[in-house]
Amino acid sequence: MIRNAIEIRDVSFRYTPDAPLALDKVSAEIPLGSITAILGPNGSGKSTLMHVLLGLLEPEGGQIRLAGRDQQRYSRRELSQTMGLVPQDEHVTFELSVLEYALLGRTPYLSLLALPREEDRQVAWAALESVGIANLAPRAVPGLSGGEKQLATVARALTQTPQVMLLDEPTSHLDLGNARRVLRVLRSLRQEGRTIVLTTHDPNAATAIATDVLLMRQGRVIAHGPVDEVMTSEQLSATYDVPVQVIRVQDRPLVLTHEPF
Ligand code: ADP
Ligand code: MG
Repeated sequence: MIRNAIEIRDVSFRYTPDAPLALDKVSAEIPLGSITAILGPNGSGKSTLMHVLLGLLEPEGGQIRLAGRDQQRYSRRELSQTMGLVPQDEHVTFELSVLEYALLGRTPYLSLLALPREEDRQVAWAALESVGIANLAPRAVPGLSGGEKQLATVARALTQTPQVMLLDEPTSHLDLGNARRVLRVLRSLRQEGRTIVLTTHDPNAATAIATDVLLMRQGRVIAHGPVDEVMTSEQLSATYDVPVQVIRVQDRPLVLTHEPF
């Protein structure tokens, strides 16, 4: 039986031959049906790891297995049916409407140049509704606010209905209410059996929904495991190099960084 959605073994990557390693022998097993939050300072390799998982960047060493099968044995189409990405920054320059943009998520299911079918439109509408932007459907994407664009990007990834969803700082531009809404959508995806991997700079968003946490620093994994084991004052202080205090509220870790500076 397959236990892990993703298995990463000794994966290293650098952007240019003389650049330092952006990923330095990263190994991790992401359990099927988990929500894994990747935390780490800027430049620690979080986005690079997501791009390597998606096959957009080729590692210089190591192996990646998706649902028990070598990533290199997936076709591009199979990969995009299996894994979807909400990128950290998406620059949409085309005058696409929000609905058309969400429908791009159906591309891996359509034959070349085929128009979306009625069922594709229904999936896209449901995605817009779940992130609360059905009212924006006719609006042009380039004219949206940063937060609205981010919600549209999440909706596009939902429309793709991948088994594994990677989200790179999906709530960075969102207000409290919209951030909660996106986190709730992710939790309900997990209840459907999907696997979620997200990066975030908000440790409390991580503790709110994650089952597992992976801490990165300078291209290396410094801790990985269940939330309660990894989210400790010592580990987080070491990760970010600032004093971090973790207390428990309502039986969950709450991360505080309120020391004067
Ligand atoms: P994070 O997402 O954790 O902030 P990244 O994965 O974006 O970190 O970056 C990891 C390292 O790789 C950083 O040192 C960054 O400067 C470098 N890097 C990221 N993207 C590129 C790129 N396109 N070209 C060269 N170096 C890059
Ligand atoms: Mg990043």
